[in-house]
Amino acid sequence: MEPLRSLILAAARNNAVRDLVASAPGTRALVERFVAGADTASAIEAGRGLVDAGLSVTMDYLGEDTTDAALAEQSVQAYLEMLDALRVTGIAGQAEVSVKLSALGQRFDESLALALAERICARAQRCGTTVTFDMEDHRTTDSTLRIVGALRREWPWVGAVLQAYLYRTAADCAALAGPESRVRLCKGAYAEPADVAYPDPHEVDLSYVRCANILLAGDGYAMFGTHDPRLVRIITERARWYDRKPGSYEFQMLYGMRPQEQLRLAGEGEKVRVYLPYGRQWYGYLMRRLAERPANLSFFLRSVVSR
Ligand code: FAD
Repeated sequence: MEPLRSLILAAARNNAVRDLVASAPGTRALVERFVAGADTASAIEAGRGLVDAGLSVTMDYLGEDTTDAALAEQSVQAYLEMLDALRVTGIAGQAEVSVKLSALGQRFDESLALALAERICARAQRCGTTVTFDMEDHRTTDSTLRIVGALRREWPWVGAVLQAYLYRTAADCAALAGPESRVRLCKGAYAEPADVAYPDPHEVDLSYVRCANILLAGDGYAMFGTHDPRLVRIITERARWYDRKPGSYEFQMLYGMRPQEQLRLAGEGEKVRVYLPYGRQWYGYLMRRLAERPANLSFFLRSVVSR
């Protein structure tokens, strides 16, 4: 992993850095750019705007690494409220939810996380939409795939996320590329050691293409989460090669990242879904975005220096 990226991801766990980031003058602008508001109503408003522009949406109620059952229950309530709102506003056909299992207590009680995830999936089914479970650091991969596997027995449309930076991911793609599956492929956003993940970004890109080929050759619904223009181009070509029509796979990008490109792809007939985070627990999410993109980081650092 590149030194700057691993430095930021390591600093993200430091309380002094957390306080500095929270109080820096540029933070508010960055949060507003990448987070669609603090509550369900603002997320619905942003989501509706994207749907009206021809895009699909996946709503992410921010929060992770919960160590408390009461907070996990709060996350469930937020998702139930969001699912009801998607149904009531009539956008459930174009908008689903993305959930981090660590926000549902996965780190301290896997069976609690499964039980809470079941409630979210049952409500999603009733509201006419789907759920995709985000993938977090590699210590949770087996647990997340176990939970997703259990959920898929009742709700085959439950989506999983696989990270191209992990050595294991080509095998996971092959295992999950069957009928009815929904898999989001992304590069991976966490600080991972070289014994589990490719340290070289070029190797990650090569792995992404290998994994994309496996998903496109399979029978499932493939979701490509990337802003990388080279990967978007390669996947568009590979999809034609595998005779995949737009709508039998989709591109996904994060809210606030390459919005013109999202519209351009949709204008070319591709299905494009925007990952739309909302809520107050934006810190971990924001730090991963800073680590990914030097342009975001320099914008933020300028605001700290000019205090
Ligand atoms: P990068 O490697 O960040 O960028 C490659 C190149 O793309 C850059 O060099 C630049 O040329 C271009 N580029 C990138 N961003 C921009 C921009 N804003 N403007 C112009 N050019 C740009 N990670 C997880 O670990 N777990 C998850 O569950 C997860 N879910 C995700 C869901 C979605 C919808 C997306 C899009 C990402 C998700 N991620 C997740 C994050 C992902 O793993 C990557 O960390 C993140 O997407 C950055 O990788 P990238 O493929 O976008 O390209």
